[in-house]
Amino acid sequence: MVDREIIVNAGYVLRGKEFDVIERAHIVIRRDRIASIERGWASNSDYHFPKGIVLPGLVNAHIHAGDYSFQEAGLELSFEEIVGSPDSLKHRLLRTLPKQRIINGIKSVLEYSIRIGVLVLADFRENGLEGIQLGLEASKGLPVHYLVFARPSRGEEDPRKLVEHAHGIGLPTPLGFSKEYLRHIRENVHDKRIATHVGELAEYAEREFRLAVEVLDADFIVHGTHLKREHIEELAEKDKGIILCPRANSWFAVGIPPVDAVLKYNLKTGLGTDNAGWIKPDLWRELEYTWNILRLKHFRVDPKRLLSIVTYEAASLLGLEDYGVVGEDYEASFIVLDSESMGFQFSHNPLASIVKRGGGEHILAVFFKGNLVYSPRRLSVS
Ligand SMILES: [Zn+2]
Repeated sequence: MVDREIIVNAGYVLRGKEFDVIERAHIVIRRDRIASIERGWASNSDYHFPKGIVLPGLVNAHIHAGDYSFQEAGLELSFEEIVGSPDSLKHRLLRTLPKQRIINGIKSVLEYSIRIGVLVLADFRENGLEGIQLGLEASKGLPVHYLVFARPSRGEEDPRKLVEHAHGIGLPTPLGFSKEYLRHIRENVHDKRIATHVGELAEYAEREFRLAVEVLDADFIVHGTHLKREHIEELAEKDKGIILCPRANSWFAVGIPPVDAVLKYNLKTGLGTDNAGWIKPDLWRELEYTWNILRLKHFRVDPKRLLSIVTYEAASLLGLEDYGVVGEDYEASFIVLDSESMGFQFSHNPLASIVKRGGGEHILAVFFKGNLVYSPRRLSVS
C-alpha cells in the first residue's frame, strides 16, 4: 500500500471531542487515519470544500434493517401484533418473504445511511445464524461499519457460534430465555458486546431490567422507555450504557424514554432509529427529536453532548474506540456538510444549528477510512 497523504481543506472543522469549531482548516489523512488537523488551507489539497463543515460520521446505534423490505405494513395492528415475537406480522414476514428481498432491503438501508452521513449501524438481526448471513451478504463491500447483533432463537443456539460471525448478541427481551441460558451467554461471549431490549412496555420493565442487569449482565440496554430514575441510577453505578429510540417509541405509542435522567446520570448513550419498516432510518431526525423531548421535559443540554451521543459516545458503547472524532489518530471517517445550504452563516450557535438543521440533504461529501466514498452531483441553480 502506498503511504500517500490525502489533504482535505474545509471552511469549518468540528475538531476533537469538544467539537471546537475551527474556521479554514485542513485535515491530513495518512492511510485510514487522521494524521493532523491544521489551521489554514493547504495549497496542495486533494479536496477543497471552502463552504464545507467537517464533522464525524454519525452512528445509528440500534436498527432492525430487515424490516425495511415491508414498509408501513399492518398499520391497523397493535404494537404486540406488529413487532412482538414470535407470531407478529414482522416475524411472519421475515420468515416468509424471499431472502433476496430482505437482503435488498438491508442493502438499501446501508446505502441510504452512507448517503446521509451515517457510517456505523448496529443492526439487531433476527433469526439467528441465518439472519446474520443475510445481513453480511447485504453489506458486502459497502463503506460502512455494519455491526450485526445476533438474536438466538429461544436459547437453542450456541452463543459462541453466533458471535463468530456477529459483532455481539442482541436479545429481543431477556424474558423467554432461561436464566441458565442468559448466564451461558455471559460466560461464553468474550470481547464482544451483549445487549438486550429492556422496558419498552411498562408491564415487563422491572423483570426485564433485573434479568438484563443481574443475570445477563448486558453491556448496554436498548430503549429503557419505562425505566424509573432509580433504574437509570443503577445503570450509571454499574457502568452500563443505553441506546434510546424516541421516534420509534412515539410511533408505536409505547411512551417517551427518560432521556433527561439518562443524561443527568451521565450514562454512556447512543441513539437508534429502530424498526426500519416503520421508522425512516434517518438519524438526523432522531437527533432533533431527542432535543425536542428534552425541551418538553425542561431539561437543558449542551448541543455538544447531543453530538457526542450520535458519534464517539455511541461508537465506544458499540466497541469502536477510534471512531467518531475528527482528531489525530482517529479513523478518517467523516462527513462534510454544506454550510451554505444550511444557512450556517446566520447561526448564533453553530453546534445547535448542526443538531437542529443538519441532514442528508446538506451532504457535500462522505469519507470512510480515508477514502471519499460519496459525493452527490451538485446541480447549479441559476
Ligand atoms: Zn429494537
